[in-house]
Amino acid sequence: MAEQIKTIKQNRLNISVYSDFDGTIMKKDIGDELFKVNGEFEPWHSMLKARELDIKDYWRTVCSKLPKNIDKKFIREFVLEYDYDPYFKVLADFCRNNGISISVISDGFKDYIDPILEKMEVLDSVRTLANKLEYKEDSSIMPKYYGASESCECFCASCKRNSILVNTPPDDIIVYIGDGYSDFCGAKHADIIFAKSALSAYCNEHRIPHYNYSNFFDVYRIFSNLVANKKIKQRRQAFLLRKQAFENE
Ligand SMILES: [Mg+2]
Ligand SMILES: [Zn+2]
Repeated sequence: MAEQIKTIKQNRLNISVYSDFDGTIMKKDIGDELFKVNGEFEPWHSMLKARELDIKDYWRTVCSKLPKNIDKKFIREFVLEYDYDPYFKVLADFCRNNGISISVISDGFKDYIDPILEKMEVLDSVRTLANKLEYKEDSSIMPKYYGASESCECFCASCKRNSILVNTPPDDIIVYIGDGYSDFCGAKHADIIFAKSALSAYCNEHRIPHYNYSNFFDVYRIFSNLVANKKIKQRRQAFLLRKQAFENE
């Protein structure tokens, strides 16, 4: 076993891939759907967007409006009704076969992420960094955040930048894949970025180099080419921002 771990470590490439979940692996945002379908979504979501409610209060409020009978099994069955991008598995398998770390990083909940990863048969090779739901004895549900959001002006309950900085070996090249507001701070600090929708607009606005993609087959095609041609390189601006973030901690 020890021998095996050593081999894996020696064959590891210094690359860490992080992918958002809602709107990225999933076609829809399950963090919205869960509450839209089963509880209350408005006026809370509009208040969040207008910044009248912060993200932690938002999650706490919408969780408190879910019916009492909701448990882990319910959420699992609920999410399995939704479409996911099957090509995520192609990317995850490529990473596993090439000694590249891959994580799902989400400001949503592990409770609905893991069933999808399990269905794609990648649960063992993909790490999940996400909030959790706590099912209390009185049947109420509370969000539990996995990371802090201090010192980052972002839209996350658990800041993706902080989570990436804490979870990535210092010499790794960071690859980020995402679509939305919660991805801004994580992507900004990454070396190679795949972006669509709001994240792509953000990157354009801030002149951050990125690849546009529409599904994970695009990501796989571009990323595997970069790896094969040894073009996975640090982005100077991201490196400096990471250094700055560490100094500000
Ligand atoms: Mg998203
Ligand atoms: Zn942040």
